[in-house]
Amino acid sequence: NGIPVAIVGEPNVGKSTLLNALLNEERAIVSDIAGTTRDTIEDEISIGGISFRFIDTAGIRETTDTIEGLGIQRTFEKIKQSQVTIYLFDATVIRKKREKSQNIRTEIEKIRNRFPQKQLVVVANKVDQLEPSEINDLTSNINHLHLLSAKSGQGVEELKTILLEFV
Ligand code: GDP
Ligand code: MG
Repeated sequence: NGIPVAIVGEPNVGKSTLLNALLNEERAIVSDIAGTTRDTIEDEISIGGISFRFIDTAGIRETTDTIEGLGIQRTFEKIKQSQVTIYLFDATVIRKKREKSQNIRTEIEKIRNRFPQKQLVVVANKVDQLEPSEINDLTSNINHLHLLSAKSGQGVEELKTILLEFV
């Protein structure tokens, strides 16, 4: 069995799209509707001769929807079982007035603190939507941030290389 890697983050940040990009196939269901990934989807790939088991999860957020709530509970179980956690966020949040890079950095520090013993990779997705100045703003303010586009595939091979460093 491969090294378990959980892909977590808020709904619609592109977790399922990233899983598809990593697997190079249309395995997970991608949707614009928040909360579509109710259950978890897992698949194995070999990177540099090492087997990884990727686990696509329901988005983590507070919810009153019981079915979505169950998916989130399962997400936390998957995080506990995983060796590496990929925390994904939508890089275009940098456009929102209240979400400047300093705020995003604070948010990421909170996430990092929630996974003290976990091996965590923080990934900013949808960089295909960003201006070069916005990319610069993110990378200069947030350390150890990996930027990619799950949709275009840009940066996905580099993420695979990063994962190999966790072995
Ligand atoms: P999930 O809820 O986190 O699993 O998100 P999905 O993978 O279902 O994606 C949510 C939406 O974001 C879909 O419309 C995707 O096509 C879109 N999306 C995902 N990754 C990217 C990306 O890298 N760039 C852009 N522009 N859109 C993306
Ligand atoms: Mg999904």
